[in-house]
Amino acid sequence: MQVKAPRGTADILPVNTRKWQHIERVIKEQIEFFGYQEVRTPIFEHTELFLHGVGQGTDIVSKEMYTFNDRSERSLTLRPEGTASCVRAIIEHSVYGGVLPVKWYYTGAMFRYDRPQAGRYRQFHQVGVEAFGSNSPYLDAEIIILMVEILSALGLQAYELHLNSVGCPLCRQSYRQRLIEHIDPVKDKLCPDCQIRYLQNPLRVLDCKVVSCHEAIAGYPVIYDSLCPDCQEHYARVRTALEDNGVKYLHDDQLVRGLDYYTNTAFEIHIPGIGAQSAVGGGGRYNGLVQELGGPNLPGIGFALGMERLLLALDTLGIIGSTQSAIDVFIAVMNDQYESPALKILNQIRRAGIRADKDYTGRSGKAQMKYADRVGAKLVILIGDEEMAQGFLTLRNMQNKEQLRVTDEQLIKTIKQIMATD
Ligand code: AMP
Repeated sequence: MQVKAPRGTADILPVNTRKWQHIERVIKEQIEFFGYQEVRTPIFEHTELFLHGVGQGTDIVSKEMYTFNDRSERSLTLRPEGTASCVRAIIEHSVYGGVLPVKWYYTGAMFRYDRPQAGRYRQFHQVGVEAFGSNSPYLDAEIIILMVEILSALGLQAYELHLNSVGCPLCRQSYRQRLIEHIDPVKDKLCPDCQIRYLQNPLRVLDCKVVSCHEAIAGYPVIYDSLCPDCQEHYARVRTALEDNGVKYLHDDQLVRGLDYYTNTAFEIHIPGIGAQSAVGGGGRYNGLVQELGGPNLPGIGFALGMERLLLALDTLGIIGSTQSAIDVFIAVMNDQYESPALKILNQIRRAGIRADKDYTGRSGKAQMKYADRVGAKLVILIGDEEMAQGFLTLRNMQNKEQLRVTDEQLIKTIKQIMATD
């Protein structure tokens, strides 16, 4: 038996879960400020949902899905992303028949069979938001502002936001043709994947990660010049709204999403200096997707942030410390016979909403103090012979080492006072 987690997966041990919880808390708080509500969908779905919802021409569908047959020979797939499941749920529960826009968010594990490296895993975690039922460019701006606010709230102000418009299926038609004509004479210089896909989906060549493909297509026509007046207007409004709200961005002609149901705004956010996998999040508008999956003509827009990448950024840039305390108060019991009153006091403290613990290993008094220090307790309550004989408790402040005597009745109030002045 192999006692090892599968390649590309990781345990998140308690030393790190504190950081995760911090990131999740900050993100959820920001998202809820913006009026989004949490949705939870299954971790696996019918494979065809992703074939249509992510698209057969994508790397995700063609190479990266964890697909298996269940015992009834149904083809199921571990979700590689969250949007398709949200769209499925919107359609399945006719959520579009209620109040619009529908503003949802989700968090959870995603699965892609990719080559693992720092910042890239086979099981990773995303937080995503999706808004359905409005084509307003100001909603596009709101979603981007939300993503930026999340990063700022986490302390990641030094981001690079890439922005583009991929137009609508109508304006993309002529653009595709121009792009194919530009690529055709240099097709032999493309990577094997692009040689196959450029005729079917020439936009994919633009966001191919192989450097020689970029070099081969230098001077390519840019999509912006092919946008129809409506799409130009939409993009202009998004840009102005971002500028009005102080959000800095880079217009990036190479940021494209090759599938027909992606429309207008596309964006990606990078944190420079965290290595090759610097994209912490990305998203865009997908006005054709709900219809593609069998629903009504309902516009949508969303983004997803990668939890592991955010953590990598916070760690690499030294923004998050690893030494967060597990408890605030530790009870040091100096004599076995006081275990029972100690447990009673411990329960009182916990019921008062204070994180507390005691020793359960029979350590010496000195070792208990050391332990209290290691777990980051701010206060230690000492229960020894003198305390029990005279009916008081000794409260020791672990930061300034001051000790004071308190009665049972004064205990909670005193602890709260000391913690409040911290
Ligand atoms: P995508 O769904 O590909 O647009 O990805 C959105 C975000 O999820 C990316 O910007 C990354 O932060 C994160 N992400 C995507 N794939 C992976 C992966 N294999 N491992 C870790 N994070 C990922």
